[in-house]
Amino acid sequence: MNLNTYFMEATYLVASILFILSLKMMSHPETARRGMFLAEGGMFAAIIGTLVGTNIITWTWIIAGLALGSIIGGWMAVTVPMTAMPQRTALSHAFGALAAALVGIGEFVVHASEMGTVTRGALGFEVMLGALTTTGSLIAAGKLQGVIGGKPIQFRGQNAVNLVIFLGMVTSFFYFWAHPEVVVAFYTMLTLAFVFGVMLVIPIGSADMPVVMSLLNSYAGLAAAATGFVLGNNVLIIAGTLDGFSGFILSVLMCKAMNRSITNVLFGGFGSVIAEAATDTGGVMREISLDDAAMQLAFANRVVFVPGYGLATAQAQHAVRELAELLESRGVTVKYAIHPVAGRMPGHMNVLLAEANVPYSSLYEMEQINPEFPSTDVAVVIGANDVVNPDARDNPKSLIAGMPILEVDRAKSVIVLKRGQGRGFSGLENPLFYKPCTTMLYGDAKSSLSHLAQAVQHV
Ligand code: NAP
Repeated sequence: MNLNTYFMEATYLVASILFILSLKMMSHPETARRGMFLAEGGMFAAIIGTLVGTNIITWTWIIAGLALGSIIGGWMAVTVPMTAMPQRTALSHAFGALAAALVGIGEFVVHASEMGTVTRGALGFEVMLGALTTTGSLIAAGKLQGVIGGKPIQFRGQNAVNLVIFLGMVTSFFYFWAHPEVVVAFYTMLTLAFVFGVMLVIPIGSADMPVVMSLLNSYAGLAAAATGFVLGNNVLIIAGTLDGFSGFILSVLMCKAMNRSITNVLFGGFGSVIAEAATDTGGVMREISLDDAAMQLAFANRVVFVPGYGLATAQAQHAVRELAELLESRGVTVKYAIHPVAGRMPGHMNVLLAEANVPYSSLYEMEQINPEFPSTDVAVVIGANDVVNPDARDNPKSLIAGMPILEVDRAKSVIVLKRGQGRGFSGLENPLFYKPCTTMLYGDAKSSLSHLAQAVQHV
């Protein structure tokens, strides 16, 4: 080993340690931001190490790639709003997975005949996972962005067709593994993997997309780890494995939060078959005036705020904190109830509220806060819908049946802040809005909250 190689291996070690520490720090909102910086530092170290320790044939393409990637990445980071982060992440997965697949194809073209069986197996795995993650992530991004309809796309015999594609893909993989000289087996596997990625995601409704996303994240990580085996690159193996397994653990946690079985997710056949049977709401939504809502809040003992996607779109995190502080100054106990999939990405609400300096000790997870709703005077639902839909608990035929919810309907009184009669992400009707304990305060969440704060001051 020469000096450059030593330097490269040392930077890989530093990068791996930084990745592990960053993951640890990202598990808590208070340290998550620092964790991100550590991960960025790790990635930077790995890039520098690779450039120093590798025999570079030409810098032209590397510099062009760095410049183009930085411009696109920087532009996306600055312009994409927080609410569109899931589709942005899906695009990143697609690019990462495509990179893994392209490296694999390059290795196949140049070195396939001289590879050992283990490396060849890793190469096939990398290309197969990389290709299916690329198209699967592009479909997920399209669904989340609303370019492709969010409804499940289904047809008769879909499962049989998917099974045939899957078996064809796996058979070509093994054929390529045993006979690397049969080029057609490799390209058949590649084509079927691209098709399988599409078929895997189209039957899934957008309400289940968070789980799909974290699962695709896991696939992209595993593809990167396989690339590491093919190239003999330790940092890729470590980073890919961390990504692959943390993505998988996140998928399992989110499955739990949405009551989806991980087996169904793995085989891509979930979130699609149950017909909606909305509860006959049989009532009307009752509107509440600003002054009446302010009165209820000002004279309450316990108030729980339930933030959802609408709070994020309205950027109402500062307004809710101001109202909460005002109520607290009047002796009201205020808590925030955080559903694990409220908003559009895991941790969305925690990040927003932390940005507005809401104390972390005021945030309560679903399991902690649910038993407290019966003793809550007013639950204020701010732009949340699916995560407070009692049909998930009460109606076994509902599309979201079994998804754990924040049981705000058990509070003494519920005030829902939303703009109008719009539905939630799942597109389902919400019987909560028709319950006798519920009243609606229509308007943009941010202006409703600011007006409420003004009105509370005059009570
Ligand atoms: P939601 O079900 O999407 O409902 C959001 C509600 O906010 C809508 O009913 C909308 O009604 C209202 N709204 C929108 N803009 C508003 C504004 N400016 N001011 C006031 N209200 C506004 O949100 P959620 O209850 O947070 O549920 C999250 C959903 O997203 C779940 O179905 C979850 O599975 C899914 N999801 C979650 C993740 C994740 O990882 N967290 C990722 C992807 C998808 P109006 O139009 O009437 O205002």
